[in-house]
Amino acid sequence: MMDFSYTRARSIDEARDLSIVPAAMLLAGGTTLLDLAKCGVVEPTRLIDITHIENLDTITVTDSGAAIGALAKMSRVADDPRIRENFPAISESLSLAASAQLRNMATVGGNLLQRTRCAYFRDPATFPACNKRAPGSGCAAVGGVTRNHAVLGTSDACIATYPGDLAVALVAFDAVIHIGPRAIPADEFFLLPGATPHREVALLRGEMITEITIPASPAARRSTYLKIRDRQSYEFAAASAAVGLDLAPDGRTITDIRIALGGVATIPWRCHAAEEALRGEKLDPETIARASALAMQGADARGANRYKIDLAARVVARAILKTGEIS
Ligand code: FAD
Ligand code: SF4
Repeated sequence: MMDFSYTRARSIDEARDLSIVPAAMLLAGGTTLLDLAKCGVVEPTRLIDITHIENLDTITVTDSGAAIGALAKMSRVADDPRIRENFPAISESLSLAASAQLRNMATVGGNLLQRTRCAYFRDPATFPACNKRAPGSGCAAVGGVTRNHAVLGTSDACIATYPGDLAVALVAFDAVIHIGPRAIPADEFFLLPGATPHREVALLRGEMITEITIPASPAARRSTYLKIRDRQSYEFAAASAAVGLDLAPDGRTITDIRIALGGVATIPWRCHAAEEALRGEKLDPETIARASALAMQGADARGANRYKIDLAARVVARAILKTGEIS
């Protein structure tokens, strides 16, 4: 039995003050935090319920972009007509994530901070070796079953996949994560594992996500999120892609393209090289094939996850085709 205290914070400042002590954790929808506590991955001594802080669940959309409060529920953001119209990939990334029940409970802030689904990470009783959970203890996955593990952004210390969908779309469209007065581009918020896989995000003790902003752009407006998974009901991505496209008036020349990958990398993976190579090019089958190959540049399989390299390349190609067809 785990012993912890429960406190309901009434303001952002109160939540920050309460969460400064070690092993204090913020509680939003609780859909992943309580799971992790039950399987012994986290052992909070103090839970700070942030769901009663006012004005942290608003969704604002203007000509310059969207601002989404950290406590906005996944389902509400996914179904917001303004988000669907101006940021279809964001809406789709949320509606294809988890189950309807989970989306009604879970917040976008909590979604970004979900932990890897690496089976070794989530079973400390059977697998004590996990550098992410216990720094320096080793990695049970290397030499284990790697079917769901990452092929991009891995290190010798950790090959765990970042599991979330929303973050992939946010990274593609230059979203910014606001932490009170601090603002971090989504692309810099998630940290590569390197030698310190236990450091996953650029969040410091006592800090709290307050808002996510996404700048408006033609590519965000003409975008899609394509997710391939083992079953269609609810499942994490085997490979996914957020793609946005802007074409010149000739309808064929690419003026802007955004590509980010999910389910295959240790962080939400923006494909800058593929994007740069395609700007100014014609949208045709050769260009799309080049983009999907460039997107997977540097991919490194370990055993059973080899299929992800080919799968993700196909997902990128299909997502570009789908986006190109939208009139
Ligand atoms: P919580 O569980 O309350 O918190 C999660 C973490 O974030 C905790 O560490 C908490 O301390 C911290 N936290 C929460 N809010 C803040 C904040 N504002 N500032 C700082 N820290 C904060 N996700 C997908 O993307 N795609 C899927 O396909 C998918 N499938 C799922 C299937 C199942 C069966 C389950 C259980 C989950 C699945 N998920 C999936 C994950 C799900 O989306 C997350 O559990 C959920 O989004 C977490 O949100 P929450 O509000 O419940 O977070
Ligand atoms: Fe832990 Fe990462 Fe190895 Fe999984 S892949 S066991 S999370 S160190």
